[in-house]
Amino acid sequence: MRDRLETLLAEAQALAHIGSWEWDLLANRVTWSDEHYRLFDFPVGASLDYEKAGSRNHPADRARAHQVIQQSLKDGQPYILEFRIVLPDGTQRWIEARGRAEVDAAGRVIRKVGTSQDITERAEVAAALRHAESQYRELIENAVEGVFRSTPQGRFLMANQSLARMLGYESPEQLIAERDLTRDHYVRSDERSRVTGLAEAQGVVQGFEYEAYRRDGSTVWLRAHARVVREPGGTTYYEGMVEDVTHRRRADALLELRAREQAAVARLGEAALAGHDLPALLDGAASLVADTLDVEFSQILELRPDGDLVCRTGMGWQPGVIGTVVPGRAESQAGLALGSEHPVVLDRDAQPPVQVEPHLVSHGVRSGITVIIGPRDHPFGALGVFAVERRSFTVDDVNFLQGIASILAAAIARLRGEELRDHLLAREDPEFSSVVEDVFRREGIELLLGTKTTRVSQRGGEIALELGGGKEVRGSHLLVAVGRRPNTDDLGCDKAGVALDPKGFIEADDQYRTKATGVYAVGDVLGGPQFTHTSWDDHRLLFDILLGQGKRTRRDRLIPYTVFTDPQVAGVGLTEKEARQKGVAFEAASMPFGDVARAIELDETAGQMKVLVDPKSERVIGATIAGAEAGELIHVFVTAMQAGASARAIVDAEFVHPTFSEGVQSLVMKLDRFALH
Ligand SMILES: Cc1cc2nc3c(=O)[nH]c(=O)nc-3n(C[C@H](O)[C@H](O)[C@H](O)COP(=O)(O)OP(=O)(O)OC[C@H]3O[C@@H](n4cnc5c(N)ncnc54)[C@H](O)[C@@H]3O)c2cc1C
Repeated sequence: MRDRLETLLAEAQALAHIGSWEWDLLANRVTWSDEHYRLFDFPVGASLDYEKAGSRNHPADRARAHQVIQQSLKDGQPYILEFRIVLPDGTQRWIEARGRAEVDAAGRVIRKVGTSQDITERAEVAAALRHAESQYRELIENAVEGVFRSTPQGRFLMANQSLARMLGYESPEQLIAERDLTRDHYVRSDERSRVTGLAEAQGVVQGFEYEAYRRDGSTVWLRAHARVVREPGGTTYYEGMVEDVTHRRRADALLELRAREQAAVARLGEAALAGHDLPALLDGAASLVADTLDVEFSQILELRPDGDLVCRTGMGWQPGVIGTVVPGRAESQAGLALGSEHPVVLDRDAQPPVQVEPHLVSHGVRSGITVIIGPRDHPFGALGVFAVERRSFTVDDVNFLQGIASILAAAIARLRGEELRDHLLAREDPEFSSVVEDVFRREGIELLLGTKTTRVSQRGGEIALELGGGKEVRGSHLLVAVGRRPNTDDLGCDKAGVALDPKGFIEADDQYRTKATGVYAVGDVLGGPQFTHTSWDDHRLLFDILLGQGKRTRRDRLIPYTVFTDPQVAGVGLTEKEARQKGVAFEAASMPFGDVARAIELDETAGQMKVLVDPKSERVIGATIAGAEAGELIHVFVTAMQAGASARAIVDAEFVHPTFSEGVQSLVMKLDRFALH
C-alpha cells in the first residue's frame, strides 16, 4: 500500500514538475524526490548536501535564496521563493520553492521539508506580460493623443502626459489632483451633461468635440472618444482618448468668418448703392460689423467741424451713448485713428495704458479696432468694433472693417453730393433751403443745382463756364466759394511749440491751452464753428478761465448762426434731420411765415419756422427760422435754451402785437401739448 502511494506521488510530481525535498539538519542530509533530481538535472539518487544542492542556483539569485533560507532557519517560518537555476547544458529554468521548518522542544529547527516546482513557463508568461505592460504604458505615456480614465463623478483616475500638456498642466499627477470635470473643464457648462448622457445611453461616445479650459484660463478644442467601463464588482468609470483639434477648429472658424465677411461686404455694398437713407445705412453697417466679427459693440462716429466726433449709431451700448461727443485728436482712440496712418487696434491691457473714450471704459471694453471713414485728408468719421474679452484681430478683420468703412464713405460722399445738388443750404432741413431757393427764383435768379462745371475760360472780356450737358453760362465776374483754410503756415507755430492739426488749425484743449505753456488760442484758428460771435465768446470764456471764474465750457455752449441771405435763415441746436440721425426723441411744430401778422403787414410772408422740444423736459432742443429778421427772432430760442427753460415759458409770456416775435410764440403753441383748446 505504501509503495503504491509512493508511486502515485512520484507520478503526480512528474506530471506537475514538482519535486519534494527534506533536509535533516541534525544529520546534514538532504533527501530529494526523483522529480526533484530531474528538475535540477542531477542523477537520481546522487548524494547531496546543502552546498551541492545550491550549486545549480543562478549566480545572480544565489545570495537572495541563501538569505531567505537562513532567515527561515532562524525564525522557523515557512517561505516561498522564486529563483533561477542553470542546468549543465546552460539552459535556465525558473523554480518556485516552498519550505517549512520542524522544530524540537527547545524551538530549534531540526528539519526542513519543501517542494520545488518548475514555473519557467508561468514566469516567462508573466515576464512577457510585464514587458507588454511596460510597452503599453510607454505607448500611452508618449502618445500624441490624450488618454484618460475618470470616475462618473468627474475626477480623473489616470491621465497621460499629452492630456496634461493639452490642458496646461505640468504633469498628469498635477492634472489628476487639480482638475474637476464637473466644475472647471467645459467652457459650455451643458457639455458635461451632454457627453455623460450620450455615454450612459450608448456606452460609447465617438468624436465628441468641445471647448475646454486650460489651467491658465485659455481654451482648447478637444475631440474625445470615450467608453463606459463597468467592472464586475460594480465600479464604473469612463476611459478614452482625446485629440487637440484647436488648430482645425480655429481654421474652420476663420474660413467661416471670411465667408461671412465677404457676404457682409456684398450686402452692404448693395444697400449703399441703392439706398438714399443714410441713417438707415449707418444703422445697418453698425449691426453688420458687430454680428460678422462677433463682438459686443460697434460704433460709427461723425467728425464735427471742431475736430471732435459724435457717436451717430452703434450696437450694444447702454442708452445715452448714441449722441455722445467723443473728443478728437489723441484724447480718444477714434481721434487717434483719424490722425494716424493706420487703423488703431485697441488693447486696454497694453502698457502704457491707452487713452480711450469714457463709454468704452464704462462698458468694460478691452479690445477693438477703429478705422477711418472717408479719405484720410478729409475724413467723414470713424468706424469701430469692440469686445469685452481680450481679442486679437487679424489683418483680415481690419481689412474687412476698412472695406465696410470705404463703402460707407462712398455712400456718404454720394448722398452728400446729392444733398448739395438738390439744395442750396444742405445742412438745413429741406423746407428751409426751399424758402431761399423759391425767393431767389421769384427774383429771377436761375439756380443750376447739381450741375458740374467742366471748364472756365475768358472770352471777349467775359467769363464763360462750360457746364455738364453742353450748357454754357457767361458773366462779368466769377465768385468761387470753396470755404476757408487757416492762415497758420507762416506763423512759426512749430518754433513756439504750438501744435497744429493735419488741416493747419491750432490744437487747444477745453481751456484754450495750446501745446506751448502759457500760449492760448481762440477764434477761427481753432477750426470750430467760424463766426464772429463765437470768437467773441471764446475770448470771454478764456477771460473767465484765466480769472478762475465762470462755469460755462467751450464744449457745451450753444452756437446760434444766421445765413444773411434775403430772407435770412437762422438756427440754434438740432435740426430735425440731426435729431433723427442721433436718435434723439423730440416733438416738432412748424409754421409758415404767412401766419405771422407782422409778416403780412410788411409783405414779408416768405418763410418758415420750426421748433423741436424734448417731450420729457419740454425744453427746446433746436429751432430753425427762415424769413424776415430770422437772425433776430432766433434769440428768443437761444435765451430759452441757455436758461434751460421749458418752452412753456415762451407760451406763457406776453408778446407784443404786431411783431415777428409773437410768431415765435404762435409756433411753439402749435405743439399739441401747448395748443389752446
Ligand atoms: C466774407 C465773410 C463774411 C463773414 N460773415 C460773417 C457774419 O456775417 N457773421 C459772423 O458771425 N461771421 C462772419 N464771418 C466769419 C467771421 O469773420 C470770423 O469768424 C471772425 O472774424 C473770426 O474772428 P477771429 O478773431 O477769430 O479771426 P479774424 O477776424 O480773422 O482775426 C484774425 C486777425 O489776425 C490777423 N493776422 C493774421 N495773421 C497774422 C500775423 N501773422 N500777424 C499778425 N496778425 C495776423 C488778421 O489780419 C486778422 O485781423 C465772415 C467771414 C467772411 C470771410
